[in-house]
Amino acid sequence: MVGGASAYHNVMSDRRTRLAPSPTGALHLGNARTFLINWAMARQQNWTIVLRVEDLDGPRVKEGADKLAIDILQWLGLDWDEGPHYQRHDLTRYHAALDRLAGQGLIYPCQCTRGDIAAAARSAPHEGDEHELRYPGTCRPAAATPTRFEPALDATAWRVRVPDQVISFTDQVAGEQAINVAQGVGDFVLSTRMGLPAYQLAVVVDDAAQHITDVVRGDDLVPSAARQIMLQQMLNIAPQPRYTHLPLVYGPDGRRLAKRHGDTRLTTYRKHGVSAERIIGLLGHWSGLGPRQPMTLSMFLERFDLARLPRQPITFTADDEKWLLTK
Ligand code: GLU
Repeated sequence: MVGGASAYHNVMSDRRTRLAPSPTGALHLGNARTFLINWAMARQQNWTIVLRVEDLDGPRVKEGADKLAIDILQWLGLDWDEGPHYQRHDLTRYHAALDRLAGQGLIYPCQCTRGDIAAAARSAPHEGDEHELRYPGTCRPAAATPTRFEPALDATAWRVRVPDQVISFTDQVAGEQAINVAQGVGDFVLSTRMGLPAYQLAVVVDDAAQHITDVVRGDDLVPSAARQIMLQQMLNIAPQPRYTHLPLVYGPDGRRLAKRHGDTRLTTYRKHGVSAERIIGLLGHWSGLGPRQPMTLSMFLERFDLARLPRQPITFTADDEKWLLTK
C-alpha cells in the first residue's frame, strides 16, 4: 500500500513525527543534521512525517524564510506526508488551552519586563538555565486563582504556576532525565507580551493536535521537554511523546554552531556549487557513518543507525569546511 506521495513511505504505522523548522533564518549544517536524522529515523520505521512551520516565534520570524527552509529540505531530498502546517493560521486551539489553564488558576497575567526580571535576578543570583533568567515570581498570586484568559491585554504576558517538582523522563539518546522546572526557569511564559502563544505552549498543543508520537530534535531542548511534559500533565494530554534529543554541532571554539562561525547556511554552500551529496556526506560523517565521503540520501537512509550516533557533541572543523568546498 502506498501511504502518501513519498517514495520512501510505503507502510502505514501509527507513529508520527514532525519536522518543525522555525522560519527565523536559513538552515545551517547543525539543524540540517537534526532534520536529516529525524527524517531517516521516520523513514526507517515508517512513521508519518508532518511538516510544521513554527512561525509563532515573534519578531524573529523572517519574511520568506519558510519557503527557503522548505526549498532547502527538498533540495536535500527530504520529504513529508502532511503539511506544511503553519501555526499562525489559527490561534484558537492555543487560546482554548490557555483558557483551560486559566480556569484552573494555573496561569496568571504578568507585566514584568525583561529588565525587571534581570534586576530581580541580580539581587538574588541563581543558576538557572544558560539563556533564561529564572522568573522570581513577582506577579504570581499567593494562591491559584481561577480567571479568564485574555489574549489582548496590552503588554501583558501570561505565566504558568510551575509546581516545585521533578519531571522525569527517558530520552532515547540523552538517557534518564530528572528536571525541576521551578528551580530552572521558574514560572515561564505561555502567552507573550505581544499576545501570541509562546513556543512551549504551541508545541504541546500542536504535538497533541497532530498526534505526534516521536519528537526528535537538538539536545538544547532537553530542558524544554520537561516544561512540555509538565504542560501535557496540566492539560491532561496523553500519551506522552517519545523524546530523542540529539547532540548538537559546535564550532571549533566549543560554542554552538551559529553565524559567528561563518556562513554555514545550506543555501550559501548550494550557491557555491556544493552538491547535496557532499552535504549529506558530511552530515553522515557526523552521524556515525564513517569517514567523509559524498553520499546520496538513499545511502544515508540505508546506513543510518541511531545506536551508532556519536553521543558527544560534534565539532565542525576547518578541515570539514575545506572538504565540503572541494570540487
Ligand atoms: N522550531 C524549533 C527549531 O527549529 C524546534 C522545536 C521543536 O522541535 O520542538 O529549533
